[in-house]
Amino acid sequence: MILEAPRQPLHVVDIPAPKPDATQVLVKVAACAVCRTDLHVMDGELPKPKLPLVPGHEIVGIVVKKGKDVQRFKIGDRVGIPWLGWTCGECEFCRSERENLCDRARFTGYTLDGGYAEFMVADERFCFPIPKNYSDAEAAPLLCAGLIGYRSLAKTGNAKRLGIYGFGAAAHIVAQIARFQGREIFAFTRRSDLEAQAFAKSLGAVWAGDSEAPPPTPLDAAIIFAPVGPLVPLALRAVAKGGIVVCGGIHMSNIPSFPYDLLWQERTLCSVANLTRHDGEEFFALAPRVPVRTTIQMFPLTEANAVLSRLRSGQIHGAAVLVP
Ligand SMILES: [Zn+2]
Ligand SMILES: [Zn+2]
Repeated sequence: MILEAPRQPLHVVDIPAPKPDATQVLVKVAACAVCRTDLHVMDGELPKPKLPLVPGHEIVGIVVKKGKDVQRFKIGDRVGIPWLGWTCGECEFCRSERENLCDRARFTGYTLDGGYAEFMVADERFCFPIPKNYSDAEAAPLLCAGLIGYRSLAKTGNAKRLGIYGFGAAAHIVAQIARFQGREIFAFTRRSDLEAQAFAKSLGAVWAGDSEAPPPTPLDAAIIFAPVGPLVPLALRAVAKGGIVVCGGIHMSNIPSFPYDLLWQERTLCSVANLTRHDGEEFFALAPRVPVRTTIQMFPLTEANAVLSRLRSGQIHGAAVLVP
């Protein structure tokens, strides 16, 4: 499936399988999860995508061919391919363990072709082995919803009472890890989305309600996964003194102005950008111990356009996964 230009539907096209470079593997795609970032790319909300582009950055597949310098994987191995597809290794960010901020980073399904396809190439240095106890489709959402969710959660430090705004794919994974770590989850959803609120409670949230509603008790931290700027002042209002608000998405509508009072008393507001390979190593070691279970809805790859509109209107609970 290919995006020719922003704000256009994806087209089915026949292209020969790409050839792997020296450090790349050719992967037969088994499953690719659908992320809200795919919508931001398609809507032209992220600058300078590769065009035409194959979207998709939560991929699980099997190595069918490899470049001459590939060492970590062999033919037949199962690999996961995440959003971070390549970094320079030389800039000040790469050299200070912040490769997620690399000046020249390339991203799967955005500036590199991704996994809405039968075959794709990926640099082996940025792929992860997938724990055995997950099926291909169950594992796919771990590659972004899981990894970015984990990085967002890590930014909240030791917060005990944790608010989560937007209870989609990332939240449903983060909630399980947070509970495993002994935290309490307060889930905030679109107004009157009782289905999402029930879903959050089924994953152990101690409270679930509308985003505009104050939590029953002040929170230590909040993560905002919904791309909705007005949630920022709401979340700042919901956290106690010294609280942290983490924006976990790659794009957000404008944040309305708010009184300094909401930030005063050492509240912190920050964003999370991308992931490092180190995040992935930590996350894939932790996920099977929790164990994180993903709630997925599977669709044929050819239905990608319909699945994206369902995601846009909030009709997906858990994560949607495309299967070629
Ligand atoms: Zn994503
Ligand atoms: Zn770099």
